[in-house]
Amino acid sequence: MIPSVTLNTGAKMPVVGLGTWRAEPGNVQKAVTEAISAGYRHIDCAYVYENEGEVGAGIHTVMDQGLVKREELFIVSKLWCTFHIPSLVRGVCEKTLKALQLDYLDLYLVHFPMGFQPGDSLFPLDEDGKVIPDGTNFLDTWEAMEQLVDAGLVRAIGISNFNKAQMEAILNKPDLKYKPATNQIECHPYLTQDKLINYCHSQDISVTAYSPLGSPTRPWAQPDEPTLLEEPKIKAIAEKYNKTPAQVLIRFHIERNVIAIPKSVTPHRIKENFQVFDFKLSEEDMKTIQSFNRNWRGFPMNWGSNHKDFPLNAEY
Ligand code: NDP
Repeated sequence: MIPSVTLNTGAKMPVVGLGTWRAEPGNVQKAVTEAISAGYRHIDCAYVYENEGEVGAGIHTVMDQGLVKREELFIVSKLWCTFHIPSLVRGVCEKTLKALQLDYLDLYLVHFPMGFQPGDSLFPLDEDGKVIPDGTNFLDTWEAMEQLVDAGLVRAIGISNFNKAQMEAILNKPDLKYKPATNQIECHPYLTQDKLINYCHSQDISVTAYSPLGSPTRPWAQPDEPTLLEEPKIKAIAEKYNKTPAQVLIRFHIERNVIAIPKSVTPHRIKENFQVFDFKLSEEDMKTIQSFNRNWRGFPMNWGSNHKDFPLNAEY
């Protein structure tokens, strides 16, 4: 039994999943087969990662080997921002399903609250490097997401990178049919997100932590920025439990009832990141890890700061 979080739909979402952003074609298929063989049942995908075909090939390799059945897996994908216009939602969801060779997703998320101008570019930018909006209201996009549930294409729907006010807008929407099942947000000890997590949990909305290891290889990382995996105090805590810093960082989320989706394409790290169910961090160690919070973001989304639905201007 893999520890899981029960969603407000009643479905169980495994508390650790495999992240696939920047898992390059050529090695992500193998990463997915390694992960499922190591016990993972939850894979986090997205249209914009442009690797869903290979992720699907990985999923089917292990299904064909009889290692796992579709109903034992929990597959998540995300609606990209250039498809927020309601009439575009179903088509791009079907593209994801086709790439993954699946007939349903367990969870489909609105990747960002911000809609972008549709077209060939997934990141349409103006001359100042700011994203070009599409003028949509994410409440209308949400209705199109609800229709995917009714059509049987997805079992649950959720959001990602939404702040509290944006979540409230959905929850207070007249005729709301389905509440978001999760909010997938950046979360790690430098950005502990206490207030947003408390708010989500108070509304029976689960939280999924992206970049749970601090996204050390994000392309825009600067040499003077902090690196969680190298923090001496995290290393010391890890030694105490005979674990690695990555395992401590993943366990940190589990103790908070937060789902974590570490990405790796390295077989020994894929296994390592799943060996987190045989220890528990003490309250004191949790407090120490929590004290690293500095509201630092690996994903400041500077390209979106002019957008009417930019989520990071609010306190949380
Ligand atoms: P993570 O915090 O998961 O860090 C991933 C990096 O850490 C990779 O470079 C990986 O290297 C390395 N790593 C993995 N395991 C270990 C280990 N045990 N020891 C040392 N290094 C390790 O960053 P991500 O930003 O990728 O976040 C995880 C996932 O969250 C994404 O892949 C994606 O699925 C999702 N995400 C969602 C976003 C959203 O907007 N909703 C935004 C960003 C991420 P290697 O692969 O070489 O082993």
